[in-house]
Amino acid sequence: MDPPRDTIAALATPPGRAAVAVVRLSGPDATAIAERVIGRRPRPRRAELCRFAAADGTPIDRGLVIAFPAPASYTGEDVVELHCHGGAVVTDWLLETLHALGARPAQPGEFTLRAFLNDKLDLAQAEAVADLIESGSRAAARAALRSLDGRFSAAVDGIQAELTAVRMHVEACLDFPEEELATEAAEALEQRLGALLERLDGLRAQAAQGRVLRDGLCAVLAGPPNAGKSSLMNRLAGYEAAIVTHVPGTTRDPLREQLSLEGLPVTLVDTAGLREAHDLVEAEGVKRARRELERADLVLWVTDVREGAECAAHAARASLGDDPRITLVLNKADLVAEPAALLDHDGRPAIRLSALTGDGLELLVRHLQAVAGWSGDAAGTFSARRRHLDALERAAAHLRVAAEELARAPELGAEELRAAQTALSEVTGAYTSDDLLGEIFSRFCIGK
Ligand code: GDP
Repeated sequence: MDPPRDTIAALATPPGRAAVAVVRLSGPDATAIAERVIGRRPRPRRAELCRFAAADGTPIDRGLVIAFPAPASYTGEDVVELHCHGGAVVTDWLLETLHALGARPAQPGEFTLRAFLNDKLDLAQAEAVADLIESGSRAAARAALRSLDGRFSAAVDGIQAELTAVRMHVEACLDFPEEELATEAAEALEQRLGALLERLDGLRAQAAQGRVLRDGLCAVLAGPPNAGKSSLMNRLAGYEAAIVTHVPGTTRDPLREQLSLEGLPVTLVDTAGLREAHDLVEAEGVKRARRELERADLVLWVTDVREGAECAAHAARASLGDDPRITLVLNKADLVAEPAALLDHDGRPAIRLSALTGDGLELLVRHLQAVAGWSGDAAGTFSARRRHLDALERAAAHLRVAAEELARAPELGAEELRAAQTALSEVTGAYTSDDLLGEIFSRFCIGK
């Protein structure tokens, strides 16, 4: 995709009333359009108090103007920011004026897309911009900032550089087939590939933490009425190390809490609506509950411990099938003379606990952390997405095959190394289809 040649404008701050709103222009005509609005050429990189006027000269507002000439701007193009009073009338009028003077309304994420196309950011950094804005915790925000600073990209680039060196080594050997890979050279290559794989696996583990930090773990509570699902949800929300964010939903939505359990972001969903529907409203509730279940990483099937694990497993199977995501929660342990424990029931995890007393709750928290692959240490983590993990996983798979093939069939091995490099380059976006770019940037907000 080539960098576009037109000029875009959008509100960079959220709509609504505020002390200040920022309207941003980017593109080759940004300075000329701003000049028409403020009546003089804005000075580069200076905040200046100006009057803003409509195309016919009618005053709209007064505020600050800051011009960032290309290429030292966010997008790499000429950028001008107009800081006006934050109100729908003023911002709409100002935007309407900019559009009348030739700027086009920006698409979601278009400023950041332009930054990417002008090499101001790579793709992982561009995604980190959205992740920083959407981060649900300070740890997630810090991780996104690390990615934005280029830590993730630098780690990928480091592996790419070593991979290039290995490929040159192999290609040189292929060009001179009579000098077959001498044993010594082959051993050196094997060691080099081994070290590279180790490095890549380390990066994958770090990226996996980053993904959990960004996306969190979604656990759904299901099970018969009165088993203690709501009590468990409240207990977890009141857990010492839990930070709760209430997410409003409609009455037909399953109840949902955002928790941060010792740093692990967890979305807990109580699908009380998961039962036979008697009317349309309930049917909608059931549909939504089912949708939540499909998306969940984990299903906590809550039941009264007195029912017994066998009976609980049977009921869970009857309702959800043989779903590997199910963990049995045998609640109300206070009513029987057995201590809280993490058990194994026919290869399925089962946790005996009491939502009433809180006994065994820490076992559940540890279990959630284990399922998420959470090490509890967010220090140094950078944000990462499922897409990045997939690419790193594919790169590692190709490297493994390459390590096996190089001695036997060097051409095949070389091909695998090339494929590993292509997979890695998807992370930073060196080779990215326009479709993927469209999908990534369309999820940004307008004005970003
Ligand atoms: P839900 O229908 O599955 O959401 O169940 P609730 O959370 O509403 O609980 C049903 C009843 O069981 C309530 O009276 C709770 O006080 C009680 N209950 C929940 N958890 C426990 C527990 O661990 N021990 C005891 N003794 N009672 C519990």
